[in-house]
Amino acid sequence: ILEVHGLRKSYGELAALKGVDFDLIAGETLAVVGESGSGKSTIARLMLRLEEASGGTVKWKGEDILAKSPREMGKLRRQLQMVFQDPTQSLNPNMSVYEIISEAWVIHPDILPKPKWRARVGELLEQVGLKAEHALRYPHQFSGGQRQRIAIARALALEPDLIICDEAVSALDVSVQAQVIALLGDLRDRLGIAFIFIAHDLPVVRDFADRVLVMKQGEIVEQGPVRQIFDAPREHYTRRLLAAGL
Ligand code: ATP
Ligand code: MG
Repeated sequence: ILEVHGLRKSYGELAALKGVDFDLIAGETLAVVGESGSGKSTIARLMLRLEEASGGTVKWKGEDILAKSPREMGKLRRQLQMVFQDPTQSLNPNMSVYEIISEAWVIHPDILPKPKWRARVGELLEQVGLKAEHALRYPHQFSGGQRQRIAIARALALEPDLIICDEAVSALDVSVQAQVIALLGDLRDRLGIAFIFIAHDLPVVRDFADRVLVMKQGEIVEQGPVRQIFDAPREHYTRRLLAAGL
């Protein structure tokens, strides 16, 4: 469903992304790893057009995302959702959970008629391991892990085919990480959602990803099935990352 070719991004003199090629099939989980500043988040930002690329193509179901008008992109955004590291930043503190989740339907009214919103919000909250009555609360009334579940519920509201998680569990305690990963794995298995999973954490990548893409200074140094990357990495850089715990 996704083909990325020659994706580039420069910030002035700095080449943050130097021509990146990868693809993704439906329902697949691709982990993106690499040292800080290697360009991982840049890939995510360019794919969602949060920033404009300096070159390359990103084909989503055969259509180049980078060539879409903002209006066409608005429609596509529905299928591509993102969950960020810090839910306190991405969840508006002045909105109730109900408002946060249903906001997506205000923008995409064709998905669900308003009379059904409340029931669907309850359903989504239960799907991510929260309670329907949590809809009336505000973000500050939840723990970090619970807030991340709310961010996931919001992403699910649009019935996406792909969710990009940028360090989505990095800020959480290890045990809470495991719970959120279990939830994502469950969603992947039940709903067939594909994931691009940007991560630092080794066990998480090992358990959750099908394939791994290793980034260094804006380039892919190695990509392959998760078993190969972990058990028989070809590149010295990958071995070093693994030895350091990514
Ligand atoms: P981390 O693991 O720390 O999140 P990352 O791999 O996600 O790192 P990116 O955020 O993709 O790294 O950044 C890649 C490079 O681009 C870095 O050198 C960063 O300093 C630079 N960069 C990112 N955004 C900007 C910007 N808006 N202006 C200038 N340089 C930027
Ligand atoms: Mg980043």
